[in-house]
Amino acid sequence: MLGSVRRCRSFRFLVSPTVCQRAALVGLLGLQCELYNAALEDRRGAWRWEHRSVSYVDQCRTLTTLRAIRPEVLTCGVTVCRGTLKRLDWAFAGFYRRCRAGQAPGFPRFRSRSRWDSLQWEDRSGWHLDEASRRLHLKGIGGLKLRLHRPIRGTPKAITLHREGRRWWVTIRCVDVPAEPLPAAGRQVGIDLGVQVLVATSDADLLLNERFGARAAARLTAAQQVLATKQRGSQHRRRAVERVAAAHRHVRNCRTNALHQLSRRLVDDHDLIVHEKLAIQNLVRRPRPRPDGTGGYQPNGAAAKTGLNRCIHDAGWGHLLAMISYKAESAGRTVIAVDPRNTSRRCAHCGHISAGNRRGAAFRCLDCGHQAHADTNAAINILRAGRAQQHTTAQGRN
Ligand SMILES: [Zn+2]
Repeated sequence: MLGSVRRCRSFRFLVSPTVCQRAALVGLLGLQCELYNAALEDRRGAWRWEHRSVSYVDQCRTLTTLRAIRPEVLTCGVTVCRGTLKRLDWAFAGFYRRCRAGQAPGFPRFRSRSRWDSLQWEDRSGWHLDEASRRLHLKGIGGLKLRLHRPIRGTPKAITLHREGRRWWVTIRCVDVPAEPLPAAGRQVGIDLGVQVLVATSDADLLLNERFGARAAARLTAAQQVLATKQRGSQHRRRAVERVAAAHRHVRNCRTNALHQLSRRLVDDHDLIVHEKLAIQNLVRRPRPRPDGTGGYQPNGAAAKTGLNRCIHDAGWGHLLAMISYKAESAGRTVIAVDPRNTSRRCAHCGHISAGNRRGAAFRCLDCGHQAHADTNAAINILRAGRAQQHTTAQGRN
């Protein structure tokens, strides 16, 4: 079963284009943005005037007619154009999916050139990766120097080129990536995710939430204030925008790095990792307004909830769980998600459940007097629930 899974992984590398290549790439970005907008107009018009829907395949067919009218669009090959049309197709697919789900999505929009930052090649033509000379050859652009800081595994299938500030990155998507099984560690762990303590393990390890976002908030605010004083369209404003973007990027990089290290450690050291099932969408939902009957509103804790939401986003639980999941899959470890009900109220020692067991970060059982850090207690309960679940599935299989 496992052997038949086509394991996909992405590898991201820094690209150093020459000045000429950079200019060519910026030109290509502009053309692809134009193509996207034209294709969107095509779909809108066809529906508005003829009630006819245009598909991705239909639009790909019309690309050949561009050779006569706008040959410059095709100088870098047809693959990158198809990638852009695919993006539009995804936008529409997302729109219809949300419509069907009864949500109120926004219709796909025309895109601005200044925000159009990526190009994608969705199949294996139009580009060629030369690992020996560390170059990525793009049709119409040339050989881009690549900083290959790690070996690429699997078979490269598609690429995305992305501009981030002054830097360019390539994401290489590979299929059939071989697994990297790890020797058995002989340990199991339950983890409790929190806001103060990011991860508490059942081994009484407490990892504080670093809150990179909160730490950088002052710097970010300062950068945004500077930006607000600049005149639109000015050279200074462009630089200030760049500085705000860099501040956001820095926070994101710090957070991702910390989560990668943490998930790597958890997967390396444990054969079984149990976490609570999370519904982050529900956790960060806005509190319901509480009308007071006279046209006003009673306090509903919205401000406090906003603060908590920011902390939850800052902690990056969803990202952490995703990283644990794919690293564990490749290493041959087991990950189990359990129902979080009562895990923080149950005594890990005697099993007594009471809301009074917990006071803030301290856990003290009202029945047997067992004392522990509240998050460690919860993590032990989570591990136990995971083991029980594993046992039941194993029995069900026999
Ligand atoms: Zn107890």
